[in-house]
Formats: sequence, C-alpha cells, structure tokens
Amino acid sequence: MDFTGKVKQAALAAIINQGLAYLEKDPEANLPRLMALVDRVVPENWYVSQRAGVRSAIAEKGNWYQLMLKLYALDPGVRNAFFRNFVLNASLFGSATQDETAAREGCNIPWAILLDPTSACNLHCTGCWAAEYGNKLNLTFEELDSIITQGKALGTYMYIFTGGEPLVRKKDVIALCEKHSDCEFLSFTNGTLIDEDFCREMLRVKNFVPAISLEGFEDANDGRRGQGVYEKVRQAMALLKAHGLRHIRFHDLRHSCASLLLKQGVPMKQIQEWLGHSDIATTANIYAHLDSQSKQLSAATMEQALALPEELPKSRW
Ligand code: SF4
Repeated sequence: MDFTGKVKQAALAAIINQGLAYLEKDPEANLPRLMALVDRVVPENWYVSQRAGVRSAIAEKGNWYQLMLKLYALDPGVRNAFFRNFVLNASLFGSATQDETAAREGCNIPWAILLDPTSACNLHCTGCWAAEYGNKLNLTFEELDSIITQGKALGTYMYIFTGGEPLVRKKDVIALCEKHSDCEFLSFTNGTLIDEDFCREMLRVKNFVPAISLEGFEDANDGRRGQGVYEKVRQAMALLKAHGLRHIRFHDLRHSCASLLLKQGVPMKQIQEWLGHSDIATTANIYAHLDSQSKQLSAATMEQALALPEELPKSRW
C-alpha cells in the first residue's frame, strides 16, 4: 500500500477508535450519530461502498444492526478485537486492499478464506466422512500459518475453520489467533470440546468466534450426532455465556445450503460432495427439503446466526 493509503487508514482508524469509545456510553443512540460524524469528517471518496453498507444496516435496523448492538453484551476486550479485526481490518481496510490487489493481479481476492486444519473429529455423525478418514489428514501449524500470512498480504483478514472438527486442534487454533492478532477467526464446531480452559484461552486471544452446529431439537440432533451431544452443547453455550463470550448458532445451515443448491438445479451428487457425505442417501433423505421449507430455513438460519442468540433452552431452540 502507498503512503497515501497508509495515512488514509491511520486517519480513519483514529476517527473510528474515538467513535467506539463514544459508542460504549449508549450504543443504540450513538451509532447513527457516529456514522453521521464519520460521513462529515471523512473525504467523500474514502471507502464509499463500505460506508454505504454500514449506513444502510443502521437505516434498515435489520440483522446486521442487531448484530452490532448485541456486541455490547460481549466481554469488552473481545468486542474491541472484533471491531478492530472484523470491521476495520477485514471489512474496511482489507476490502480496499483486496480491490487494489484484484485490479493489479487481474483475479478475484477472497474476503474470507476457509481452511480445514484437520479431517479428524471426536464425533461419528451418521453419513459424515470425517469419522471414516480418522485423524490422518492435517495441515501443519506452519502450513496454516503460511496460508494466513499470504492471505493478509492480499488484504484478507477473516479466516473460517471447517473440518472435521477444528477444535480437535485447539492449541494450534489458539496459537494462530495469538500470532495473527489482527485477524478475526471463526470456526464451525460441534461445540463438544469447548470447556473452561478453552473459554479462558478465547478471552486471552479475543479474536476467536465459535459457530456451533446443531441438527435440530434434542431428538433430531442426538439421533444423528450421538446420545448426549445436545446436552454437551447446552453446557458449552452456558460456559461461553458465563465468560462474556457469545457463540453464533448455525442451526440447519447445512440443510439450508442443500435445499437451496437443489432448488438451483445442482445435481444431488454434487451436493453430496459439497456437504462431504459418504452416502448420497444421507444427502437426499436428511438434508434436501422442499422449496418453501428451504426458504423458511434460510431466513431462520440467518436471523438466528446474526442475532447471536441466548443459551439454548432445554427443550426448544
Ligand atoms: S458432521 Fe461435523 S461433528 Fe459430525 S462427524 Fe462430521 S465433522 Fe464431526
């Protein structure tokens, strides 16, 4: 990035940091005021599309707006890291660098990079390939570190772990969060490996968000994932809440994905491969629903995910 770009970033970061301190007093009342202030003091041609996105989220008061307000229930250190890494680095500055890199290299630069630290998983859910592959396929810490280092050079500051179960590699995941403290990390997880120690590590590094997967209510979830898994997830959510940490709960995201792909005419075989099912019958029977259901599921999934919901109730979600 050239000198002007760096000055621009530093100036905007200073304005936003002051604004965030102001927001702490009364987020709901001060959020629109802060955005109005940013629009007044920042030159018109700086981060135009990114600022427009924030402005429209505030005006519509939809899920993104709710997400912003829910952040004030978080541990303050985790909240500050989220603003710095997700809002400033990944969304504002990162996307500007991505645009520059894309124009220079003539290719698309991803906003987020998905990576699988391991194929291993501590569960054996019906139809999932992870249990069959065992723990043989792993990226080394150095490989994971290298991917993130290269991504940052392109302007990507958001990293999403999938698997397998990424928290089988808890120590490496935390070490990556610590080393790349300017990035935001989100991990899809079955939630069963979240314990007291891990919550403390999350509080220490501040830039890790678990996205907990469930299949449905207790019967549906445990029918596929194993007896007692639903209860373990409830306990994990309670622990997170007790530590001032929130999770994103992705219920049925995989169902929604399969149903939407099906609606778009993607062959069942391809959907099976995308979801990682070893058996096409699992994809067809468990995941792919009718069109109206898929719309409801998608809407509910995004609403739930972005609203950072409270702890799961005992018998409902
Ligand atoms: S579906 Fe997820 S939790 Fe279940 S075995 Fe596969 S990777 Fe593990």
